[in-house]
Amino acid sequence: MQSLLSNLEAVRQRVAVAARDCGRPAEAVRLLAVSKTFPALDVQTIAQGGQIDFGENYIQEGVEKIVTLKHTNSLLVWHCIGPIQSNKTKLAAENFDWVHSIDRLKIAQRLSEQRPSGLQPLQVCLQVNVDGGATKSGVAPDEVLALAQAVMQLPQLQLRGLMTIPEPAVTFELQLQLHQQTKKLFDELKSQLYLEAFDTLSMGMTADLEAAIHAGATMVRVGTALFGQRDAV
Ligand SMILES: *Cc1c(COP(=O)(O)O)cnc(C)c1O
Repeated sequence: MQSLLSNLEAVRQRVAVAARDCGRPAEAVRLLAVSKTFPALDVQTIAQGGQIDFGENYIQEGVEKIVTLKHTNSLLVWHCIGPIQSNKTKLAAENFDWVHSIDRLKIAQRLSEQRPSGLQPLQVCLQVNVDGGATKSGVAPDEVLALAQAVMQLPQLQLRGLMTIPEPAVTFELQLQLHQQTKKLFDELKSQLYLEAFDTLSMGMTADLEAAIHAGATMVRVGTALFGQRDAV
């Protein structure tokens, strides 16, 4: 338990140092704690350290934790960051606050239709496949504008930005190049969409959060450095 809280402190330090090194305020980068495969109890411990945002990849697993923690930790903000099949949109729309992984209109339409009207609109990012990794999900860069314009029309969704998971790169320079490509795309879109709320660039994980922050990430998604090594699933 103590080690989870010291992990949190260490990750906050990494974020703060990276932000300082490129002249950005540490508050410009929001930390998303990726709790996939770890129990609700670990989430609660990290939350006691003041962490608010949590990310889950698997909808069913995420919803179980959301429901478990709802009454004791009602201020937590839950982000779905994994691939979404059509048969899981309802569960996601009813339970999460954010979805980062929208890569086609059909999924966005279902999420909007299924978002309960009593809740605030679902906050969404489009997942973009910047480096063309063939095995990965994400919309192609030349299709992202059309998708963004369509998603903006959906009443129960609020389009917030882009999310990306680049291929792992070993050097800081290579990581930076990839993240800068996404930042450029983000800036182009922002100038084309005229959307005040388009303010989120979700990129950077345990291995590359410094490069992502240098490139302009506003949200980094960190699992391993906070919760520890995951068992293979
Ligand atoms: C698992 C995961 C993360 C966290 O990765 P770490 O390397 O453990 O920090 C971030 N984003 C997505 C989409 C993930 O699936």
